[in-house]
Amino acid sequence: MKAVPSRRLCAWALLALSVSCASSRGQADAAGSQNASVEAPGGAAPSQGEYTLAEDVSVRRLAPGVWLHTTLGSGDYKHIPANGLIIEDGDGSLLVDTTWNAQQAERLLVWAEEELHRPVRAAVVTHFHSDRTGGVPALTARGLPVYGLAETARLAAASKEPVPTRTFEGGQTLGSTEFFFPGAGHARDNIVVWHPSSGVLFGGCFVKAGDAKDLGNLSDADTAAWPASVARVQERFPQARIIVPGHGLPGGPGLLTHTQELLRASPSTQ
Ligand SMILES: [Zn+2]
Repeated sequence: MKAVPSRRLCAWALLALSVSCASSRGQADAAGSQNASVEAPGGAAPSQGEYTLAEDVSVRRLAPGVWLHTTLGSGDYKHIPANGLIIEDGDGSLLVDTTWNAQQAERLLVWAEEELHRPVRAAVVTHFHSDRTGGVPALTARGLPVYGLAETARLAAASKEPVPTRTFEGGQTLGSTEFFFPGAGHARDNIVVWHPSSGVLFGGCFVKAGDAKDLGNLSDADTAAWPASVARVQERFPQARIIVPGHGLPGGPGLLTHTQELLRASPSTQ
């Protein structure tokens, strides 16, 4: 595991976390409605609720210090919602997955700075597809590091997608979070992001939502390896309470077992 390469980021990461252990409130938030929309109190940092930042960008509190961002695709992916996180850490925050495009990512960066008062200091992409990497140019335009597996950088470059600028192999910790490569699944390079103080595990497209009836886009999947990879996540993060899929509503650890069930039922794994 590499040391955090940025001195500034390191100083930021060393600041004490203001995030307390997630309470049952976090679970209630995870299960709550995505439709309720509230305005940020004037001048104060938001602490709860859902914020519509643009027609195609919204942010919702999942747990103390952890926000779910959801953005809508366009073109071939029109209206497809994709999830990511903003994880508060000291006086900054980490962006987990960068949305479909730079405009959406820029909207999140402005919100984190001006409303949350915790500017994004770094981002991580959880695999090379465009719903994860599309907003990378907004980060690099500001000189912010974007982390990803070395394999993600290779695959993104080969697919002409934006490429993460700080690469690692297997896993890395950054501030209050851990990035973990469990093995291939939805893609050869999918990682999960673990935030221990809230119990939130971001599974990305490697994990399916509770109402998903199939495994979704399998164009780059390894369905033979996927079940063992999910088992590695279950084994490594038994404390995970809130699991966030790449698309659809967050849930509990049942999303991992649901993904296993879909894998068992999938014709591609027979
Ligand atoms: Zn994908």
